[in-house]
Amino acid sequence: MSSVAALRVGIVRDDRFLLHQPGLVHPEGPGRLKAVYRMLDMDFGHAVMEIQPELATLEQLELVHSPKYIRKVLRTAERQFTYLAPDTTVGSQSYLAAYLAVGGCIKGLQATLAGRCDVCFALVRPPGHHAHPNRAGGFCVFNNIGVTARYAQKRHGLRRILIVDWDIHHGDGVQELFYSEKEVLYFSTHFMGWYPQTGDWEETGAGEGLGYTINVPVPKDIRDPEMVYLYNRILNPVMERYRPELILVSAGFDGHYRDPLGRTQLTELCYRNLTELLVRLLRRGGNTPVLLALEGGYNVGALAHCVSEVLDVLTESRDDKQSPLTETDKSRQLIEKAVSIHKPYGVWTY
Ligand SMILES: [Zn+2]
Repeated sequence: MSSVAALRVGIVRDDRFLLHQPGLVHPEGPGRLKAVYRMLDMDFGHAVMEIQPELATLEQLELVHSPKYIRKVLRTAERQFTYLAPDTTVGSQSYLAAYLAVGGCIKGLQATLAGRCDVCFALVRPPGHHAHPNRAGGFCVFNNIGVTARYAQKRHGLRRILIVDWDIHHGDGVQELFYSEKEVLYFSTHFMGWYPQTGDWEETGAGEGLGYTINVPVPKDIRDPEMVYLYNRILNPVMERYRPELILVSAGFDGHYRDPLGRTQLTELCYRNLTELLVRLLRRGGNTPVLLALEGGYNVGALAHCVSEVLDVLTESRDDKQSPLTETDKSRQLIEKAVSIHKPYGVWTY
């Protein structure tokens, strides 16, 4: 039993996210969220607060995206099918889902910053962390997390935002947006053999932002305890030294062993343990607002299972027990390398 007050958990959901039809054989299909919503109705109906998303405004989208690109996305409404990028296809109503995905994240942010909930999970699609200011890519149309972080800076005056990206792909779009600033600290673990093949160790930021991008490329056979060890060893000092005012999570679940694209070795337990860490960090920061946004995860059953584990931890507020961290040669080497690269910046290393 938890000895502290339960967390109030918000959920952004909307059936209009299912309108995004990238094509019958595309892995990022509406079946993903259908499975997640079905699980929600069965297991978490009363445990979460539902937040209705609204369409993002032009002003919000322009915090990150160019007017020309936004117009290009809008024009996809005129055709049954459009290639925004070779891997990013959209139907005539996809623009609506894309606007709603950004708007939903912002609505979730507003709910957490206003204290209506402690943590919010935006269960949206299309995903966002590969989207750039002028182009789509990696199934992403708009950069949901990127716009949300900019909004938090511009409208709420936040000066230290931590973005955690546990999707198995590197969030190249998010990294690029905040690469030269210290107001956003981006931390990503990913397998570099996959798309977009960025996020190498030495990509640590530029100018004022040097040291505020932390990339940890992981081997394909990394196991749950090793991943959880990495996150603990990096995020605990980040929390202590950087003291974020907001934590955003690019929550992708394609590192799951059943995922057709990720094909790594992680299980739902990894995401459960990472969420437990997240809850501890949130408490440690004196209830730092947390917003998770769904990114990848392409085996619909595994995806629903992973989201269920995350929500189980959040709704039960299980932050009072920490299983001992398993240190292996592999996890020790990864941390040693991260520390040796980041030590000169002193952002989180001691
Ligand atoms: Zn991914």
